[in-house]
Amino acid sequence: NAEGFVPQRAAYIETAAITANVRALREVAKGAKLLAVLKADGYGHGIVPAARAAVEGGADYLGTAVLEEAFAVRAAGITAPLFSWLSAPGAPYGRAITEDIELAAYSLGQLREIAEAGQLVGVVPRIHLKIDTGMWRGGATLEDWPGLCAAARELEAEGKVRVLGIWSHLACADEPGHASVPAQLEVFRQAIATARALGLDPVLCHIANSAATLAGPEAHFDMVRPGLAVYGVNPLAEGDRGNAPALRPAMSLGAAVVQTKRAPAGAGVSYGHTESTERETTLAVVPLGYADGVFRSASSAGPVLIGKRTYRVLGRVCMDQFVLDVGDDDVAAGDAVLLFGPGDSGEPHVEAWAAAAGTIPYEVLTRIGSRVPRIYL
Ligand code: PLP
Repeated sequence: NAEGFVPQRAAYIETAAITANVRALREVAKGAKLLAVLKADGYGHGIVPAARAAVEGGADYLGTAVLEEAFAVRAAGITAPLFSWLSAPGAPYGRAITEDIELAAYSLGQLREIAEAGQLVGVVPRIHLKIDTGMWRGGATLEDWPGLCAAARELEAEGKVRVLGIWSHLACADEPGHASVPAQLEVFRQAIATARALGLDPVLCHIANSAATLAGPEAHFDMVRPGLAVYGVNPLAEGDRGNAPALRPAMSLGAAVVQTKRAPAGAGVSYGHTESTERETTLAVVPLGYADGVFRSASSAGPVLIGKRTYRVLGRVCMDQFVLDVGDDDVAAGDAVLLFGPGDSGEPHVEAWAAAAGTIPYEVLTRIGSRVPRIYL
C-alpha cells in the first residue's frame, strides 16, 4: 500500500474479545463484582485500550500492580474505580489518593504512610488491607493481622482512612484439587471475621484470580480479579476446564516473510548451526526475534502458520528474526506468518508458544516487545 504504513510485524488486538470475555466472566461470577487486571500494559495488549474494552464489558473495577500503571489509566480519562496494590515506602500516595486510586496496605507502616498522605492532600484514602493467607508473598502475616486491623479501625474512627476491602492471593488456584486452595480460603474467611470482630466493615473481600474465578464459586466472595482470562486465555489445563465459558484470545502475533531461498541438504541454519537442513528445501526468514518477545528458548520448536500449513522454527531464534524450513511449499516473501491467535485460521494458540518456550502464556503475552506495533481491530 503506497499510501499507508503496512505493518511488517504486528500484534493485532481485538478489543471486542476483551469486552466479550469480561461479559462472560461476569456471568461466571454473577453475585460478585469484577475487577479486570490491567497490569503489565494490559498483559501486553495496551493498558488504555484494554481498560476501555473491560469497562465496556461491565468491569466494575480496574486493577494495576504499580502506581505508574494506575496513573496511565487515569491520564486517559478513565474514571472507573481503580485499585493498585504494589507500592514501596515513598510511593506517590498523595497523587494516587487525589486521583481516586484505591490502595493496598500490607503493613502498619504502609497504612500510616498512606493515612498521612491522605491528610496532606485532604482526601480520605480508600484502603484494601492485604492478608497473606499462605502464599508467602505480600500481605500481613496471621500474627500481624489483628494489630493491622485494630490500627486501621482507629485510623478509620479518626476519619483518616476508609477500609473498603480485605484481599489476598492464591498460590495454586490453577491446580484444582491442590490442598492449599481450601486452606487459604479458610484462612481468608477467618481473617475477614477477625477484621469484623475488631470493628472494620469491609464491603469488598476478594481473592480470586482467573483460575479461581473459573473454577467455581467458592473463591468469588464480593469481587473476582481475573487477568489472563480477560485477555481470552484460560489458565486451567484443558482437562480441568469443566463447563467454563469459551474465552476468545484477544491477541494475534504476526509478521510478513522477509525472504525465501533454496538451500541444499546439510546447510547449517542460524547461529551456532544447531540444526541443518535434511534435504534440499526452501528457507523462509521471519522478522520477529527475542527482542520482540519470541523466546530464544523456543528455538527449534515454536510453531507458526503460513497459509494453511504449520511450520516450526528451524535453528536458533535471533534478536530480530528466525528461520523456517518450508520444504517445497509455495511460500514467498511478503506472505503472512501467524505465530499465535484465536485459532480462526488454524494458527497456534499462545499456549503452544508458551509450551515451545518452556514458559507460561502470561510471560509470552507480557514480553511482546515495545517495537512491535499494536494494531487495534
Ligand atoms: N490479582 C493479583 C493481585 C495479581 O497479582 C494477579 C496477577 O497475577 C491477578 C489478580 C490476576 O491473575 P490471573 O492473570 O491469573 O487472573
